[in-house]
Amino acid sequence: MSKGLDTTQDGQAGRSGMTRRRFVKGAAATAVVVPAIAAVRSSRTEPLADAREMADLEKYRAVGGWVEKPDDMQPALGRDVSADVVIVGAGFAGLSAALELARHGAQVIVLEREFAGFGASGRNAGYLGGGVALEYDLFLKDIGKERAKEIVRFYEDAVPFVEGKLKEHGIDCDYNPSGLIRAGIHPSQEEKVREGVRASAEFGAQSEFLDEAQMRARGIPSAFLFGEYTPRGGTLNPGKYVMGLRRAALRAGVKIYENTPLLSYTEGPVIQVKTPRGSVNAPVLMLATNAYTPQLGLLADKVVPLRVSAIETEPLTAAQLQSLGWPRREGIVTAHWTMESHRLTAHNTLLVTTKRLHYPYGSKTPNVPDYDQYRELRIALHDRFPALKDIAVRACWSGYVSFANDALPVVGATGSQQNIYYSAGCSGHGVASQSMVGHMIAQRIRGIEPPLLAALHHETPSTLPEPFRWCALNGALTGASAMDDWLNRRVRDAANQRG
Ligand SMILES: Cc1cc2nc3c(=O)[nH]c(=O)nc-3n(C[C@H](O)[C@H](O)[C@H](O)COP(=O)(O)OP(=O)(O)OC[C@H]3O[C@@H](n4cnc5c(N)ncnc54)[C@H](O)[C@@H]3O)c2cc1C
Repeated sequence: MSKGLDTTQDGQAGRSGMTRRRFVKGAAATAVVVPAIAAVRSSRTEPLADAREMADLEKYRAVGGWVEKPDDMQPALGRDVSADVVIVGAGFAGLSAALELARHGAQVIVLEREFAGFGASGRNAGYLGGGVALEYDLFLKDIGKERAKEIVRFYEDAVPFVEGKLKEHGIDCDYNPSGLIRAGIHPSQEEKVREGVRASAEFGAQSEFLDEAQMRARGIPSAFLFGEYTPRGGTLNPGKYVMGLRRAALRAGVKIYENTPLLSYTEGPVIQVKTPRGSVNAPVLMLATNAYTPQLGLLADKVVPLRVSAIETEPLTAAQLQSLGWPRREGIVTAHWTMESHRLTAHNTLLVTTKRLHYPYGSKTPNVPDYDQYRELRIALHDRFPALKDIAVRACWSGYVSFANDALPVVGATGSQQNIYYSAGCSGHGVASQSMVGHMIAQRIRGIEPPLLAALHHETPSTLPEPFRWCALNGALTGASAMDDWLNRRVRDAANQRG
């Protein structure tokens, strides 16, 4: 049996009318962004608010804000080869799996459609987090409390796992083990945050409630009133992390073929993976393609890609940093229905992500800008940091997380020989967890069944067929945004009254 890749998204024009191919070409992409904005502008009922906003939105980067195409781009596959294991996708999951397999002497080939780090691994906010802020309400009733404890342990253990790998491979990725805070911006969110602390205690994630005095004593910016603090984890530069994994994999003898998309694969004792100019034969295949997996004809009724965006400011001046406080630079997420995340980077820029999510019809993943999301993130930046309202944006970008209806990882094996492994459904918690999932799948391939991998196995609920899926998901996301906007307005009104 052969599975073919749905290629309709390649070359598919996004809202802006541009194709993915034109965007990925780095600097060339910049040249086509301005007309794109003009097109969006003319289709809007209101003109863009001001020239500054216009200038900020022009900072779109097709490859995200953390990575560039590597100087030592690995050549595309151009012939027929074989290996012990072939892995598709060079993000945290694929590269972590490759490293573990190579360490035990396996011949590993990684096929990557663009270059390592092109997916979510090179575009995320860099929060290395454990079990805090998991979506308990989405999975608890289905899997029960004992199972939930194992899942939380999986997320918690993934943080020291990554910390260990950074040391083992000598990866300097500006990791700041500051811990993370899930903060409230309005008194009405206090019960939700306290409920989070209770759930963390019950299911084994380490955290404590910080009241307003404790938040001020820590120097947390004043928009964040109280919060759930977890000492585990912190923030890192995900671009440096994924490129560090790539370097370590190459050093370990992993053969990475970049610019090499999987087009189709067969099932059987020997799997054949076809790419445009060559093929790989191997007894084991791992699809480490996360949000892109449905396009390979797998998990199409289990996981959906959700578009998430980020904006990054220019570096703050010393005076701006001083006035901000925030000495430990804890990564902050908010307790909104759709969270906002706010963090400082090692180069003193401020990164704001999430706030809005979008499901593209048919589970496509076009690599196009989402100006509405950037505009919303800019509003969040100004709302939470009014003193920084004049700071310019240096980059905005978008990527895709993989989401299952129960917000749990979707990890398993398929095929007539159960020798095709997959990993998806990270739900935006994948910096730590996808790294450890990759490692655990590699152990499974070697014949070891890690208990935490077994704990992830469960029946993932099915998604609705289109067009109901598009309507239900975007309807729910719009509803969540409306509730968040209402709360944000109250916060803004109160701030305006204070003058
Ligand atoms: C804006 C944003 C912010 C986020 N913030 C955080 C955060 O702060 N903390 C956190 O824990 N998580 C966060 N996430 C989620 C996290 O980034 C992901 O869970 C994680 O990177 C997934 O890693 P992965 O290796 O599974 O997938 P990916 O990194 O997406 O890798 C999949 C790879 O497969 C390749 N591929 C796809 N199709 C093919 C094909 N046909 N042939 C060959 N290659 C193919 C892609 O090019 C890609 O490189 C965020 C995500 C986004 C988008």
